[in-house]
Amino acid sequence: MLAVPAEVGGVRWAAYRIPTDGPEADGTLEWDATTIVVVHVQAGGATGLGWTYAPAAAGHLIGEMLSPHVLGRSAWDVPAANAVMARAVRNAGRPGVAATAISAVDTALWDLKARLLGVRLATLLGPVRDEVPAYASGGFVNWPDNVLESWLEAHAGFGRAKIKIGGGPEEADHRRIDLARRVLGPDRELYVDANGAYTAKQAIRMATGFPDVRWFEEPVSSDDVHGLRRVRESVAADVAAGEYGYDLRYFARLAGSVDCLQADVTRCGGITDFMRVAALAAAEGLELSGHCAPALHVDVSLATPNLRHLEYFHDHARIESRFFDGVATVVAGGLLHPDLTAPGNGLTFKTGDAEPHLVAAG
Ligand SMILES: [Mg+2]
Repeated sequence: MLAVPAEVGGVRWAAYRIPTDGPEADGTLEWDATTIVVVHVQAGGATGLGWTYAPAAAGHLIGEMLSPHVLGRSAWDVPAANAVMARAVRNAGRPGVAATAISAVDTALWDLKARLLGVRLATLLGPVRDEVPAYASGGFVNWPDNVLESWLEAHAGFGRAKIKIGGGPEEADHRRIDLARRVLGPDRELYVDANGAYTAKQAIRMATGFPDVRWFEEPVSSDDVHGLRRVRESVAADVAAGEYGYDLRYFARLAGSVDCLQADVTRCGGITDFMRVAALAAAEGLELSGHCAPALHVDVSLATPNLRHLEYFHDHARIESRFFDGVATVVAGGLLHPDLTAPGNGLTFKTGDAEPHLVAAG
């Protein structure tokens, strides 16, 4: 089968700016829209689908700097395409937009390869499970209490829920955390994410006043590895970080300062690099948690032995269920249950439905 030549004959991208369904803010940022850059790659009569949540600049970078290196390459050799893309952006700088662009193309190429073989992408990667544990993520800091409460209740099917904290008075964080803890009841776990809004000393002080909180994400900036380590050594909750990891060395620097490493397949370099991050985490005795973009994480999560769970992020889950067919269903306890008989990642992008939100394409 692999002897059949299949050259990549097309790389198309399109950026869509999707308004949020309400106010969204965390401890350090506020936004009213999310841009998704969707990539389709073609070879041998099949089409692969990938994407990233990044500015339209990622799409332009794909057209200008990545496509020329991917077109004409064998569709079978995805890690080789990943390597040539990484080399191509050397002078532009890999971390940030370039890494999101590489991630979008890499995820599309893996999907393409699985579709060419007529197998589920997870089957190609090597599955270790057939459902993916996920946790509900939202609870934005600018939601009124009644919105927070109804969101927590609407996600009662998940055994864990994460809310945002930070950016305002400490009392407001304590009040919202206490409210969430009450609404969740004794059987559901509470996670919090400060998005780097606290200082280390403040995070430690705040955590001593937390009720039962199991996960404290980015208590300080993930660039502050010493601060993360201080917090990790002082609080009962698991300290997690890694969502801004754009290359493998970043995760290597972070690994000694967290209880659980996070990685985002739409930022870290795609499926090729997500699997490398998982191996790096395993070597450190750590589990890995997938950050956001739940639909795109499903297959690589099925193939990651040390996966803890996947972040079912409010904004992305909404976009993916609205604009993609084939998204995994959520079953009891917050397990994502994909249709493993569907080839590739099992997804189709509904181009027509997204058309009103198109901002750029190439
Ligand atoms: Mg986060």
